Amino acid sequence: MSAASAAEAVLDGAAGIRQWQEDLYRDLHANPELGHQETRTAGIVAQELRSLGFDVHEHVGTTGVVGVLTNGDGPVVLARADMDALPVAEATGLPYASTVRAVGTDGKEVPVMHACGHDVHVACLLGAARLMAGARSSWSGTFVALFQPAEELAEGASRMVDGGLAQLVPKPDAVLGQHVLTYPAGTVGTHAGPFLSLGQSMRVTVHGQGSHGSMPHLSVDPAVLAAMIVVRLQTVVSREINPDEFAVLTVGRIAVGTKSNIIGDHAVLELNLRAYSEETHKKMVSAIERIVRAECAASGSPKEPEFETYDNYPLTDNDPDVTARVAAAFRSHFGDAATAVGRQTASEDFSIVPRALGAPYTYWALGGTDPELYRSAAERGALATEVPGNHSPRFAPVIQPTLQTGTAAVVVAALAWLAA
Ligand SMILES: [Zn+2]
Ligand SMILES: [Zn+2]
Repeated sequence: MSAASAAEAVLDGAAGIRQWQEDLYRDLHANPELGHQETRTAGIVAQELRSLGFDVHEHVGTTGVVGVLTNGDGPVVLARADMDALPVAEATGLPYASTVRAVGTDGKEVPVMHACGHDVHVACLLGAARLMAGARSSWSGTFVALFQPAEELAEGASRMVDGGLAQLVPKPDAVLGQHVLTYPAGTVGTHAGPFLSLGQSMRVTVHGQGSHGSMPHLSVDPAVLAAMIVVRLQTVVSREINPDEFAVLTVGRIAVGTKSNIIGDHAVLELNLRAYSEETHKKMVSAIERIVRAECAASGSPKEPEFETYDNYPLTDNDPDVTARVAAAFRSHFGDAATAVGRQTASEDFSIVPRALGAPYTYWALGGTDPELYRSAAERGALATEVPGNHSPRFAPVIQPTLQTGTAAVVVAALAWLAA
């Protein structure tokens, strides 16, 4: 059987799961959970996979779930979905909007919302698992469904790897991932090579000497030092990185002092870095360290500055061969709705899983915006204002054809290897 006819045979079951899947999606959306707290979601996932005949491993890392469906000899394909939601107060006005609150990473109670669409990813992968399990005569090999926690904390994938993932699954021939984004629903978009940026945050602490606000001559003022650093950091991207290379350096937070008449003794700057190559990232880090140390010396800082990185997201660098195979399968199934999309400035921890398993991967964009709304907003150049993007309190993918397309995309891509 060709991959295309195997896909049609497996997707024959799509109409039969539609109502179940839409109900599942609305339930997940109304009951979002923050990173590492996805116990309800993981429970639903594990129960469903078990009932389909998958070998199920729970609590991988923290709340991670892996289901392995072995169906004869053949290649191994692993498809991944992330399960976590965000500390955002939902403002979509949808009948299935979240009113959930939970305790966040800082110990405070926060509203919780699936503002990044990970509920779409879970519903689509579980739907694909159901279709694959229901049509075993149409394919051969091993299909692995991986549900990871805490993508938004940049921790879930690495925790699953540290939790022994490699011992639980056979080495995949291809690893697949998708993300719902503000493209027209019904479309899928592939991209070979660097697709999502390498992202990193850095906390820089610089030291001054505290004093009375009236006695600046007795101080080394960390406010002035921090201000100089912020200005000078603007030259990293504009003067040091090749204009042909993509890089972003943002100072998102500065904390210094407590009161107007007190000169503090240190300042903390929180930086965010993005790049599409490890080399550019390395250049940025060394420029930041050089500038911070030099400004500290210029100010007469009494102590060396400290640098701490966190929220480390690796580069998502789609394998050209795997991407070409998936793109061809998409074109054959989706026709014109299979597109090529540009690089995205966002970041993901997805690639940690295939890197740890030594497997090539591809990660594609799944359209989630009402096609009519998309077309009319795009025509008026109003996409940014009229189509709420990921992480917005108004982010609301349309249920269909988003779920149907995201489910078919996983099946079609997997069968590009597993077709019997
Ligand atoms: Zn997100
Ligand atoms: Zn996301």
